[in-house]
Amino acid sequence: MAADLIVTATAMARREAAALLLPAPFVPTDGIGTLVTVRPLPCPACGARDERRRWTVPFAAEDTAREAPGPTLSMLACETLTARAVLPIVVTVERVPELREARFQTRAAHWTALAPEAGPDHEKALAEIDASERWIDAPEDFSGEWTLPASTRLCRPASGWRQHRADLAPHFLSPHRDLPPRVDRHYAAVRRSALRDAYREPPPGHARPGR
Ligand SMILES: [Zn+2]
Repeated sequence: MAADLIVTATAMARREAAALLLPAPFVPTDGIGTLVTVRPLPCPACGARDERRRWTVPFAAEDTAREAPGPTLSMLACETLTARAVLPIVVTVERVPELREARFQTRAAHWTALAPEAGPDHEKALAEIDASERWIDAPEDFSGEWTLPASTRLCRPASGWRQHRADLAPHFLSPHRDLPPRVDRHYAAVRRSALRDAYREPPPGHARPGR
C-alpha cells in the first residue's frame, strides 16, 4: 500500500477530529436558523437513487420552503451523516455571510465524481479530496471544491437490529469502503487518538483542575 494514502488519511482524520470538537452553535428549529439543504446524488456503486428522505435540523430537504436558500450539501443517496458532522458548514456560513449559499459535497460524493478520471490512482484522488477540505481552516481565502471533512455511514432500509448496528459503523470516505481496510483502521485510530489528546491537553492558559 502506498505510503501516500496513509499520510493523506492521517491529515483527514485529524481534520475531522478538530471539526468534531467545534462548539455546537445554536440552531433554531423554527425555520429561521441556518439549514443545510441535502442534494441527493444517484450512487453508481449500489444503484441507490434520489429518494424522499425526511431530515431533521440542521438538515433540510430540497423542497423545504424558507426565505433564504442557504448552503447545500450534495451526498450519495446511499449515505447519511450525523447532525454534528455538518456543524462546520453552519458555523462557517453564519460567520462568513458571503458563503451563505455555498455548495458543499460529502467525501463520498467527491470520491464518486473523481473515480472515472482517477481510475486506480487512489492516492491522487484522496489527495484531491484532502485539498478540498482545507476551507475549514480559512474559508474566506478558499477557492475550489468544498468537501465536508466528515465520515459517512450507509443509509438503507433497516432489516433487523444486527444490520442496523453494522450500518452505524462510520467509514471515513465512502459507505462502500472503497479503500483497503488497513487505511480505514489507520484513519479510525488517528481520529480516536486526536480526540483523546484534545481532551487530555487543556488549551494554553487553562490549567487542569487540581493542578
Ligand atoms: Zn451507494
